[in-house]
Amino acid sequence: MAVKVAIIGAGPAGNTAATVASTLGAEVTLVERDLVGGAAHLWDCIPSKAMIATGAKLRGLRRARTLGLDAEGSLDVEALREHVASIEARLHAATMQLLESQGVRIISGTGRLKGPHEIVADTGAGLEEIDADFIVLATGSRPRIPDWVEPDGERVLTTRDAYPPKEMPSHLVVVGSGVTGVEFTNMFSSLGSEVTLVVSRQQVLPIKDPEVAAALEEEFIRRGVVLLKGARATEIRREGDTVHVACDDGRHVEGSHVVLAIGSVPNSEHLGLEDAGVEVDAAGYVPIDRHCQSNISHIYAAGDLSGKLPLSSVGAMQGRKIAEHLMGLHNRPHRHVDYDKAASAIFTVPEIADVGLAEAEAFALGRKIRVTKVPFSANARALIDGDSRGFVKILSDPATGVVLGGSIVGRNAAELISVLAVAVANDLKVDDIVDSLLVHPALAESLADAAS
Ligand SMILES: Cc1cc2nc3c(=O)[nH]c(=O)nc-3n(C[C@H](O)[C@H](O)[C@H](O)COP(=O)(O)OP(=O)(O)OC[C@H]3O[C@@H](n4cnc5c(N)ncnc54)[C@H](O)[C@@H]3O)c2cc1C
Repeated sequence: MAVKVAIIGAGPAGNTAATVASTLGAEVTLVERDLVGGAAHLWDCIPSKAMIATGAKLRGLRRARTLGLDAEGSLDVEALREHVASIEARLHAATMQLLESQGVRIISGTGRLKGPHEIVADTGAGLEEIDADFIVLATGSRPRIPDWVEPDGERVLTTRDAYPPKEMPSHLVVVGSGVTGVEFTNMFSSLGSEVTLVVSRQQVLPIKDPEVAAALEEEFIRRGVVLLKGARATEIRREGDTVHVACDDGRHVEGSHVVLAIGSVPNSEHLGLEDAGVEVDAAGYVPIDRHCQSNISHIYAAGDLSGKLPLSSVGAMQGRKIAEHLMGLHNRPHRHVDYDKAASAIFTVPEIADVGLAEAEAFALGRKIRVTKVPFSANARALIDGDSRGFVKILSDPATGVVLGGSIVGRNAAELISVLAVAVANDLKVDDIVDSLLVHPALAESLADAAS
């Protein structure tokens, strides 16, 4: 008899677990209360990147004169809205098609655990009970909203209200300068809004390499973004068409809109975790082991709910590994998700991407490293494309040459980091990159230069 798998949540983590488990022969039921594709497709990765891409093209058009072109651009908000909606619709259709072609049974409803081997889905028309040998919880997360602010979806926004908002902000105040905050700053400043970024520390992207953060701050300042450093927002008030943001150091900023980008909280309430004896930590995440198993071994958690790296790519990889594990493939050579080797990107202009060990981390560990850095200003392709901002930095082991990590700042950094991600995941050496015959002229040549 086929192994029965029940999954709650159809974001990247749940989808991938469903598709892979089904491909491997399981009988899979997937319960989703909203849209298959998850927050990733609906509110997070996809719409934000679509608007960022439009903003980048708009800025590119305005700089076209430097490439010998006579072009100007202007924003059509309605067309942008349709563009974002059409990408979401196409991705949703593609995901549904994939799941259905694999024979995954999809239930539209809100799921919760009823017991250790049973979930129940409230479909609106009634309750449906599903027995399972294995259960995967992949319910994701939602924006964190402190109790001193009440988003209204019009001018006091969470990231989910902004694709694009009903009215384009003339002056947007972004609260929070982590990855989401800087992406929103980049997005709206590219699309023509004046932006003030409230930065609680002295550096945007506080956990990133200071050199990388400095390159981004420089670009923001060049564009006229105001960085309010060392300020923590403590009050947000709307008066008519104006929003007021007060900070703990007494400073105060006014804008037409404000967006909160101060992290997320897991969707772990009302999931019946206690009914099945699944442990939750103080922040509401479901702790997992290296196989993504909760304290109840046949109940797995994946994606943002697991409290590991909150990235779609990581959630999807966890989903894949869970499917392989519950289908018994862990008896074969198997690699666990290695969160320290996950590549990640920040979709700003310049784009930022990194993987593996960071310089500050190596320093804190007292680990000897070799650091090599090459600017794109010497790269032919970058000059041809009219954008030679940024650099490639590679960290390697001085004794063995094994690539330990790297950062890329510049155009297409999110694509280029793949080379370093493969190197880091497979313990390749800098010479493996140097000895690869790359295309010329290409941005990737700077990787080989930095590896030399
Ligand atoms: C603004 C923003 C931009 C981002 N950009 C990127 C990016 O570019 N790249 C990247 O890798 N990551 C990005 N992320 C992070 C990424 O979106 C998340 O890590 C990813 O969505 C997590 O996937 P998931 O499957 O855990 O959850 P989700 O995508 O949140 O999906 C969970 C699903 O579970 C459903 N659900 C919840 N509870 C129930 C229930 N009880 N019953 C039934 N269904 C339920 C929800 O409706 C949802 O569809 C971004 C995040 C934000 C906030």
